[in-house]
Amino acid sequence: MRYIGEDQYRHRALRGKLQKKGTRSAKRKLKQLSGRESRFARDVNHCISKSIVDKAQDTGKGIALEDLTHIRSRITARRPQRATLHSWSFGQLRAFISYKAKTLGIPVALVDPRNTSRECPSCGHTSKNNRKTQASFCCTSCGFAGIADVIAAGNIARRAEVSRPNVAEAA
Ligand SMILES: [Zn+2]
Repeated sequence: MRYIGEDQYRHRALRGKLQKKGTRSAKRKLKQLSGRESRFARDVNHCISKSIVDKAQDTGKGIALEDLTHIRSRITARRPQRATLHSWSFGQLRAFISYKAKTLGIPVALVDPRNTSRECPSCGHTSKNNRKTQASFCCTSCGFAGIADVIAAGNIARRAEVSRPNVAEAA
């Protein structure tokens, strides 16, 4: 199995070489490469969004996403250029999810994205230090620990429920 990032990493290295070369054939190759990358990312995004929306439909649940509308202004200068395509393809994934969910009448909630990966679901303590590594979460206040992505996803789901208190869900 290949992951979306691996391909892009390989392509980025190759692209660097081609850009240095600067010949006509190198430019043509560069263009090909970016087309192939975006087609690959789109296929993957269609596949992921379908599986998420299908699961929501099968289980009768809604979908919660981080509301990233205003995030650009907050992260500008700090990470110049880093993984531009990466963030682009996440934007596309969100768009595909929203579109497919809407088509099927599945509710999509947008939640405040601040600290979703830093907040302890057990005691509420919020700190950068709770996130020991990219992969693991361990609350510095109460010791609650787990897989960082799972905890962030739980926080997002909980915020979605809090932000829609009037929607009664059949259990
Ligand atoms: Zn805690």
